[in-house]
Amino acid sequence: MANKGLLVVFSGPSGAGKGTLLKALLAKDRNIRLSVSATTRSPRPGEVNGREYHFISQEKFSEMAAAGEMLESAEYCGNCYGTPAAPIERWTSEGKDVILEIEVQGGAQVKRKRPDSVGIFILPPSLKVLEQRLRKRGTETDEVVRERLAAARREIPEAARYDYAVVDDTVERAVEQIRAILEAEKCRTRRNGPLMERILNHD
Ligand code: 5GP
Repeated sequence: MANKGLLVVFSGPSGAGKGTLLKALLAKDRNIRLSVSATTRSPRPGEVNGREYHFISQEKFSEMAAAGEMLESAEYCGNCYGTPAAPIERWTSEGKDVILEIEVQGGAQVKRKRPDSVGIFILPPSLKVLEQRLRKRGTETDEVVRERLAAARREIPEAARYDYAVVDDTVERAVEQIRAILEAEKCRTRRNGPLMERILNHD
């Protein structure tokens, strides 16, 4: 039996560059799937329903959460976000690694429910760089930028609860570090019971 894929939680302040890193990572590794979250926030320009997020109403969100269809859910800056559970189970049993790009309250819920998950916290090189990145995005008002910087100050200490911290200084370097983490996680003895059994029981 093949090993199950990894369940990987990616957190870090909004604007830390998680999106760019994930795009580069997905381009390099065909075995990775990205979980598409459900959210009650409105789409930003260029975002497509079902690609960046499933954009749903508050009513539908509460319905899904009550039906136990979410692996985790949280409120962030006035909107609800949650991870649909079904695709994760399907992908990991097919041996695909699944990445959840979620904030820290959700990250803590996943670690409790799935202690075998791998938590990676993405840090910006500095708060100054984070602010520049948020402003460059150009889709946020001054007030939203301030709100997100304040959220970042609260979130950064949470990195200590994650298994790994990766500083997003250059995309190439950060992607290589993330790939190294995933490779090492796959070699953990506790994930390799089936491999050891196969070696012992077959020619
Ligand atoms: P944004 O609105 O900028 O796309 O996302 C805001 C925050 O919500 C980010 O930190 C993002 O990682 C987080 N987020 C996105 N999807 C989920 C989810 O399904 N669950 C949780 N807990 N957080 C999420």
